[in-house]
Amino acid sequence: MIFIQVNFGGFVPLSTVDWRGRSVCTVFLRGCPVRCIYCQNTAILSGSDLRGIDEVIEMIRGSRMLVSGVIFSGGEPTMQKDALLALAGASKEMNLLVGVQTNGIYPDTIDALIKKRMVDRLALDIKARWERYNNLLGGNYVRKVQRSLTLCRDSHESGMLPEFEVVITLFRGYEDEVPYIAADAGDVDIVLQQGVTGELKPLSEDELKMIADGLEHAVKLRTREGGELLYESDRSRRASRKR
Ligand code: SF4
Repeated sequence: MIFIQVNFGGFVPLSTVDWRGRSVCTVFLRGCPVRCIYCQNTAILSGSDLRGIDEVIEMIRGSRMLVSGVIFSGGEPTMQKDALLALAGASKEMNLLVGVQTNGIYPDTIDALIKKRMVDRLALDIKARWERYNNLLGGNYVRKVQRSLTLCRDSHESGMLPEFEVVITLFRGYEDEVPYIAADAGDVDIVLQQGVTGELKPLSEDELKMIADGLEHAVKLRTREGGELLYESDRSRRASRKR
């Protein structure tokens, strides 16, 4: 038997907002090499809180009667490949669906999760157009995220990945990034998520709708005020009739 340790970031036994239509528990895995200015989980981007894998599996088991799925978030959960695969595998054995929220910089982990049929839903953050990516994130990440996007898109098309969405966290002044990211993402579900930092006034739901009006995709809008809303612009309706 292999003893696997988890660099643990936290556990929420019951959440009704992390997976639309489901009650889930959420496991946070500690550590992320990126430093987004808007990160909501800065306390777990570094440091160490090592737990045996069985301890974390027991936390999930404790929620088993309340939930139909488990979300792995962070930090960056795919950074801990062995631990994430073991936790996802244990969750599947409990007949729980598995969701992963990722920045996409560890495509090998995503590939392994998909090939082993251990992930049912993946939310991939894309943070900027590719030309700006490495500068913005302060590392050589663009090819890795592109590989993750291709892997997820192909796997979603083939049915290996049942649910897949690209999440764009959007801040005032960066509205022009959206058409570039949406074009690169291709024909997948797009989420426009209201970015919140202390300094900038967040974009409102109406402002996000105006941005979505320029896209040929129906998009999900996510705001603090309104939660999640599916929005279809006239342009996206016309485009979908042509498809
Ligand atoms: S990639 Fe995610 S976890 Fe890492 S700093 Fe950015 S928002 Fe936080």
